[in-house]
Amino acid sequence: MKALVYHGPGKQSWEEKERPKIKEETDAIVRITKTTICGTDLHIMKGDVATVIDGRTLGHEGIGTIEETGKAVKNFKRGEKVLISCITSCGTCDSCKKGMYSHCVHGGWILGNTIDGTQAEFVRIPYADTSLYHAPVGADEDALVMLSDIFPTGFECGVLNGAIKPGDTVAIVGAGPIGLAALLTSKFYSPSSIIMIDVDDERLKRARSFGATHTVNTAKENAEESVMELTGGRGVDAAIEAVGIPKTFELCESIVAAGGHIANIGVFGEKVDLHMERLWSRNITITTRLVDTVTTPMLLKSLEAGNLHPEALVTHHYKLGEILKAYDTFSHAKDTKALKVVLEG
Ligand SMILES: [Zn+2]
Ligand SMILES: [Zn+2]
Repeated sequence: MKALVYHGPGKQSWEEKERPKIKEETDAIVRITKTTICGTDLHIMKGDVATVIDGRTLGHEGIGTIEETGKAVKNFKRGEKVLISCITSCGTCDSCKKGMYSHCVHGGWILGNTIDGTQAEFVRIPYADTSLYHAPVGADEDALVMLSDIFPTGFECGVLNGAIKPGDTVAIVGAGPIGLAALLTSKFYSPSSIIMIDVDDERLKRARSFGATHTVNTAKENAEESVMELTGGRGVDAAIEAVGIPKTFELCESIVAAGGHIANIGVFGEKVDLHMERLWSRNITITTRLVDTVTTPMLLKSLEAGNLHPEALVTHHYKLGEILKAYDTFSHAKDTKALKVVLEG
């Protein structure tokens, strides 16, 4: 079979690789029908993720059909269409029993990290019963792929941790795919305003079409002043960080209202200043989280009911064999206006 293989920073190739086989009785082999590229894959390509070694097939998002199952797999049969969770969960360890699948001692984020991933014609999924979901009949396939990672991530790390309630004011810093997923899922709770903050007018325009009530371009205006003006000097009830650099986190610290939440989604590579000299008396909550994908069943139901349209984030389609071109498009998002690129097997 063919797979997208990492060969060290900046080096990847679409090459022939041995087809994965069942290793444990709880495994399933899935034939990939659609997959996508994540911002995390770009971090890996830069060499930022030390656990990814030379020879690793990348990718942790995808949908497909069951090709083969191990003897112990009960919920899935050959030929069934499935959604692959970016988080592998054994379902029985202490973390899994707490609903914290991201820290499963046998799983967590391993796909396209410590085991071969989904950017290939076939993938082996460990603990298939608890790491795969049945695809709803007739569901839009582009929409479904968005539920592997970015929608549970935006929703759990941003919206749920941000404790968004009806009437709240929300600011989302970063209008990339994750920030936009947080925007779309924040609407479940009817906030009174959603302020989207980014440096790219094109992405802000898209955010407005998705329901942002206000947008702030930090390249052109002082974001703190703009948000304070929009909120009558109060700040926001929820400041969601979806970038992952000190400047954007510190912006969240300066725009959070008394009693508000800073919900971090961004992946950080460096330390950030915590301005306790200002925040000590502000009754705020700061949260961090790696997506657990515990809300995937709920998001699937919302999708089925027509209350969520994740496919709106898909800007480009390629054949799986054109994946190097897709990486190029995705990594030059500013010029190509790419949000999510979908690869078809
Ligand atoms: Zn991802
Ligand atoms: Zn577990």
